Amino acid sequence: MRIFDPHIHMTSRTTDDYRAMAANGVQAVVEPAFWLGQPRTNPGSFADYFDSLIGWEPYRAAQFGIRHHATLALNPKEANDPRCRGVLDLLPRYLDKDGVVAVGEIGYDSMTPAEDEAFAAQLALAISYELPALVHTPHRDKAAGTRRTLDVVAESGIEPGRVAVDHLNEVTVGLVRDSGCWMGFSIYPETKMSPPRMVEIIKAYGTERILVNSAADWGHSDPLLTVETGKALLAAGFTADDVDRVLWRNPVEFYGQSGRLDLSETTPGATFAGSSIARGGS
Ligand SMILES: [Zn+2]
Repeated sequence: MRIFDPHIHMTSRTTDDYRAMAANGVQAVVEPAFWLGQPRTNPGSFADYFDSLIGWEPYRAAQFGIRHHATLALNPKEANDPRCRGVLDLLPRYLDKDGVVAVGEIGYDSMTPAEDEAFAAQLALAISYELPALVHTPHRDKAAGTRRTLDVVAESGIEPGRVAVDHLNEVTVGLVRDSGCWMGFSIYPETKMSPPRMVEIIKAYGTERILVNSAADWGHSDPLLTVETGKALLAAGFTADDVDRVLWRNPVEFYGQSGRLDLSETTPGATFAGSSIARGGS
């Protein structure tokens, strides 16, 4: 089983995680920029974080033979802090870089006017930089949040096939399927989606436009839940080809729209070279 985790925060994970992921077939990851728990107080703090996501973390992943890409954005939660608004001015410089395969995570946390503004501005950036967008849906008030998210996406004029709406569940999947956007599911150890629930969703909705991720971060989470979902799909009678589509070919197709996915072999012996990440084929 080869696995591409399309949403995982490796900055918060250990080398034991990288080792276990590689041993279980995880060959590629996308790390979205997000809220680090400790609030940031100025755009410079984000600049260093973005540099780390496109420089240091791919190097760390390569030590384990894992290909690493990033999505960059001002996350919805910190969009509410006026001190962080300058991040929107920093982004254009970063969205041009190799290794950046989407704008994200954007979307809503508490659905405030400041979040509205940052969400719309960053969808516009996705359009002008010809990048897909990774959109986070709020954990509270999920159905209303997802509806409003889809309205903002539609108003922006971005092509729905270039948008992934993430953290869906049984209540929100239908809305997103009907919108033409990609459907993202985060599989967690205790809360939200589990491997058995994911199997039922794929039975009901099929494998097209489905993305399954672990969204592992600094909280209680498990980077191997993509692998567990693959095993649960096989146990439920799905073919190895179905599993490969969901866990590998779908993320390749979605992020491949950036023209910047490089899935060539990593070179574990390579030295850290700052920003010299080679551009791959489209
Ligand atoms: Zn996330």
